[in-house]
Amino acid sequence: MRELYLKAPAKINLALHVKGLREDGFHELQMIMQSISLADRIKLKKKSGGIIVKNSHTELPTGRENLAYQAAEIFFKNNPEINQGVEIYIEKNIPIAAGLAGGSTDAAAVMKGLYLLFELEYDLKELRSFLENIGSDVPYCLEGGTVYASGRGEILEELPFIGEKYLVVVTPAFKISTPEVYKLYDQIKGYDKFDFDSVQNNLKNDQEIDWELDYKNDLKKAAEKICPEIKEIKDIFKNTKAEFTMLSGSGPTVFSIYSSRELAEKAAARWPRKNDFVTVARTVPSY
Ligand code: ATP
Repeated sequence: MRELYLKAPAKINLALHVKGLREDGFHELQMIMQSISLADRIKLKKKSGGIIVKNSHTELPTGRENLAYQAAEIFFKNNPEINQGVEIYIEKNIPIAAGLAGGSTDAAAVMKGLYLLFELEYDLKELRSFLENIGSDVPYCLEGGTVYASGRGEILEELPFIGEKYLVVVTPAFKISTPEVYKLYDQIKGYDKFDFDSVQNNLKNDQEIDWELDYKNDLKKAAEKICPEIKEIKDIFKNTKAEFTMLSGSGPTVFSIYSSRELAEKAAARWPRKNDFVTVARTVPSY
């Protein structure tokens, strides 16, 4: 095989609870992650040596700062018998710094893709541990699906797939730095109680999601302070017959889930804020 094409799906959070600050400086989290059909496309092509990253998006770094590059570097370090290199092309469809794990999913796809391209066997557990060093949610992105993530986000427990649901994903033209949101979160105190057990039980045992439970995001207040447009977007969603609306990760992406594809398409077609990224997507099972 000389080249390989892969999809790298984005994720949304159906719940994000910050349990506290750990001694290592990271936050202890409880999250429900869900992958969606919005995806980057990645092409891997063998070359004689070295790593090259090319992007469809001019804002993205092409060197070591690109998470896809870091994944390739770890791959070659752990497989020194391979005397070749790779050219990585990223067709960037996922908004950047938006709370959709765009960089993380590229890194995970490149790691898995390189094992396939060079026809090497891999152990998922080992790949997860390699990827943990790139970022906390990169191990999740290896397989996606509906997952309960704890620790920094790297301890994963697969949950039953919530089924195919249509959603509208809206990202304002405003990049949010995840560390900045957590920093502000630490300064603003007084968050609501979070019943995560009921959320988990609901997803494990019931046919239907009870959105009245604590499907919510502890980072909401901090993210809205940094980016007031999040609230404007939520207000627009209120009039679109959505079942459920929430901020994804540290934002600024907001998504709404609908009972039908038609309702989602209608909401997206009538979206009034012209500078937002707006797309209809569906939830996808683990890949
Ligand atoms: P998360 O939800 O994991 O916090 P995010 O979706 O908010 O992530 P990303 O899109 O992953 O954020 O981008 C975060 C930063 O990572 C950006 O500043 C970007 O320049 C950098 N980055 C490095 N490589 C990539 C990549 N392949 N795709 C997107 N961003 C990348």
